[in-house]
Amino acid sequence: MGVADAVVAAGVPISSVEFHTADGAEVASVPMPAVAREDLPPAVGVTRRAFYSALYDAAVAAGAKISHEKTVEAIADVETGVEARLSDGRITRYDLVVGADGWASAVRRLRFPNAELPQYAGQCVWRGRVPRRGKGSLRGYAGAGRTPR
Ligand SMILES: Cc1cc2nc3c(=O)[nH]c(=O)nc-3n(C[C@H](O)[C@H](O)[C@H](O)COP(=O)(O)OP(=O)(O)OC[C@H]3O[C@@H](n4cnc5c(N)ncnc54)[C@H](O)[C@@H]3O)c2cc1C
Repeated sequence: MGVADAVVAAGVPISSVEFHTADGAEVASVPMPAVAREDLPPAVGVTRRAFYSALYDAAVAAGAKISHEKTVEAIADVETGVEARLSDGRITRYDLVVGADGWASAVRRLRFPNAELPQYAGQCVWRGRVPRRGKGSLRGYAGAGRTPR
């Protein structure tokens, strides 16, 4: 999509994942491989707001028309494509509908009403933002009495 440079500029580079016990002892540090271009950091820590802005700007520049405050309520196959009914009552015809509407996808429910829904797996994470020291890394701390795996 050509958004890598904008995302890197908006964030901080991350090159390893570090696992810690609850009292801060480092258990392991796993370097991340470069997966995109050699001149880019392996990963980037970026706020959602900045990340979404980069995606939004690239989509608009590519000609996408973005509608806000409307949801998809029904989809139906028609001879020349797909008709989607939105929550404002409007019915629009498209060549193709891509359901990229998250874990509770309405498109999946409309298309596959019997599909199993994702279930809570029992895991929980607290996140916070703190001043950065040293090189950029993603740090995980296991809960008290737990060992990072
Ligand atoms: C607290 C938290 C922290 C996370 N941290 C990270 C992280 O650090 N790194 C990482 O890689 N991932 C992270 N994730 C996971 C990441 O956010 C998700 O995997 C990713 O957002 C999924 O993208 P998606 O496009 O499938 O769905 P979403 O990002 O959920 O987007 C779905 C979109 O569809 C829209 N929508 C929903 N229903 C309808 C409808 N009926 N009609 C029209 N539109 C609809 C929603 O408004 C939304 O804009 C985190 C998730 C959470 C909850």
